[in-house]
Amino acid sequence: MNEITNPKPNDHPLLIDGPLSSLYDELLKCRSCPRIVEFRERIALEKRKQFRSWTYWGRPIPGFGDVHAQLLILGLAPAAHGGNRTGRVFTGDKSADFLVKCLNKVGITNQPKSEFLTDGLKMNDAFMTPVLKCVPPNDKPTAEELRNCSHYFEDEMTVLSNVKVVLALGKIGFDAYLRLIRQKFDFKFKDLPFGHDKRYLLPNGKILWGCYHPSPRNVNTGRVNASMMIKLLSNVKEELDK
Ligand code: SF4
Repeated sequence: MNEITNPKPNDHPLLIDGPLSSLYDELLKCRSCPRIVEFRERIALEKRKQFRSWTYWGRPIPGFGDVHAQLLILGLAPAAHGGNRTGRVFTGDKSADFLVKCLNKVGITNQPKSEFLTDGLKMNDAFMTPVLKCVPPNDKPTAEELRNCSHYFEDEMTVLSNVKVVLALGKIGFDAYLRLIRQKFDFKFKDLPFGHDKRYLLPNGKILWGCYHPSPRNVNTGRVNASMMIKLLSNVKEELDK
């Protein structure tokens, strides 16, 4: 779907209204990481050939979904030609194709596709956000960039007070959530190793659930496949429905 172009802040429901709107308004202006700002804006100008007609978003990416949700789906960062183009997390790239199809199979989304900001996607009792709000070069943020960005995630978590399960797609998101909780509770990271379908009840009463990232590399190498992902998501749903 390439003909839909020009994502605009006014098309983003959580930017217009609701308890996250002032945070996201501030987020959109953020230029705290020079290396990342240069990269996200350069990618937005250079574009990928198949998306030549698009005006890329090229800015930080807000979260998306139900602010009263019990499930938080935590990614690493927007993709260069996915979120950085479309303005929405897990939208318009191969990871999104795979993930949203699986989410839809278990009823977490209303449709199996996530292609552009006004495509009608809705999350059922779920919210998605990346720990790093902009696309980093080579998908690898520095420790300093992760630190710079962490307060946005912390502020989101304050608003998302109903979250019962944090589904971390990849180790960076998993560790970012542990770091957040460790500010208040004393525990060691090595006691909570990341793994696919590994789950831990944390001292704050929330469950942190590890999941391999649905990146093309992980899918193409068979590290994660649709049946593994659907099984894990079904387990998460069961937990939420208890
Ligand atoms: S990664 Fe985060 S802190 Fe850095 S520029 Fe983007 S929004 Fe700002």
